[in-house]
Parts: sequence; structure tokens; C-alpha cells
Amino acid sequence: MGADAKQDSPTHDVVGALNCVRERIEALSSTQNGRRVDLVAVSKTKPPELLQAAYDAGQRHFGENYVQELVQKAPLLPPDVKWHFVGSLQSNKAKILVSVPNLFVVESVDRKKTATALHKAVAKTDRNEKLKVMVQVNTSGEESKSGCQPGQTAELAEFVVKECEHLELVGLMTIGAFDTSDEPEAFKILNKERDAVATRLNRSIKELQLSMGMSGDFEAAIRMGSDSVRVGSTIFGAREYGNKVIQG
Ligand SMILES: *Cc1c(COP(=O)(O)O)cnc(C)c1O
Repeated sequence: MGADAKQDSPTHDVVGALNCVRERIEALSSTQNGRRVDLVAVSKTKPPELLQAAYDAGQRHFGENYVQELVQKAPLLPPDVKWHFVGSLQSNKAKILVSVPNLFVVESVDRKKTATALHKAVAKTDRNEKLKVMVQVNTSGEESKSGCQPGQTAELAEFVVKECEHLELVGLMTIGAFDTSDEPEAFKILNKERDAVATRLNRSIKELQLSMGMSGDFEAAIRMGSDSVRVGSTIFGAREYGNKVIQG
């Protein structure tokens, strides 16, 4: 079997890789001040069998960033999976996204229009709880990355809290830039933005989680206060689109 075939095959050692990531998170527990760090397994483009293997090893939080893919995969996995939507969301897809009964959180709210669309979509379902959302912040300044601009975060967060009663603001998310330093700038910015949101909403920062850190930088993210890391390729193998391998 060639390396390419192996990457996408159910025999890719998902469980070994998952356990390795868990151990790396655990090893940092002394820096976490008693915080629990959630691991979200980002499974975009990966076949359901690989997700099921991670599920069987105890993984419950999964992240996807295409609405259609999430909607198709959700019924193929057990109903107690907690789905995180982490992709950019067009407001006309809010309704179908929200139709996934075990959608746990939408981490990628980056404009009022998206927040409003989610709020209205939830109002039309029979969900009896608010839908958890995070505000995504563009901390890298790269136009290709989504997220609101730092400096607009508090206003958007306030909009969610005051105008979208069917949504519950639980924190902030960022992707960040490629940065191998011990204290990536993006993560400093997200911490600052959380301070600004906490001040504006008169909340404690403990009530606002940070979702930051991916395969390449989740350890730095934990040291810098992340509550939730989103790890994809390190668990499931590199992603392929056509013949092109996409990392990160
Ligand atoms: C793909 C993706 C991840 C996971 O990235 P890896 O580098 O594969 O760990 C995390 N967060 C978001 C928003 C993503 O789109």
C-alpha cells in the first residue's frame, strides 16, 4: 500500500495518534491551573470510519468546517457526538446547519449577519437550549482567513448577547498565523480581545473560553490559556484535495 492510500484508509492509526495528542495535552496539565482543556478532533474531509475509530477510543468532540459535510456525517456517527462547526458560514446555510440535533457549538461567528441568521434559525427549531457560539477573530491580519478584526470583537460579542436571545456566547476562537515561537502573537491578541469582551459585557474572563491551537501550535496555545484545542491532521493524517496535500 502506498503512503497516499494509507492516509485515507481506515487503518491509519487514528487511535495511536489520538492517544499521543492526549498525552501531550496531559503533559501540560501543570500549566493549566486546574483548567480542563477540551480536545476537538477536526475531521473535515475524513471518512466516517476514521471518526468512528476515534469515537470508540472515547473522543466525543469533533470539528467540521463544511456545512454539507457535517450534515452528511452527523447521522452516520453516534448521537452523543458533540459537533463543533469551525468553518466559514454563509447565512443561507444557517438553517441546515442548525438542523443537526447534536450541533454543540458554532465557533466561527464573525459578523452580525451570521449571528442573526443562526439566531433566527434556532428560533424555528424545537431545540430547548440556546445554541452555543463563539466569535471568531482574525488575529493574523491575513485576508484569506476569516474572523472579525480585533477591535471589533467586543461589539460583535455584545450584539450576540443583546440581540440574539437564542444564542449563548461561550468564548472566542482564532486560527492564528504560522508561528513557531513559544508565545505566538495571535494567541496574545486573542487573550486581549477576551479581556475587552469581558469588560464590555461585565463578565469574568472565566466565563469566556478561548478556542485556539491546531496541530502545529496546540501546546503553545495551552500554555497561553486555551480551553479548547482543535487538532486535525495530527490525529487523522494529512488532508488531500485531489492530489494536493493540504496541511494546516
Ligand atoms: C482544519 C482546521 C483545524 C485543524 O487543523 P490541523 O492543522 O489539521 O490540526 C482547526 N481549526 C480550523 C478552524 C480548521 O479549519
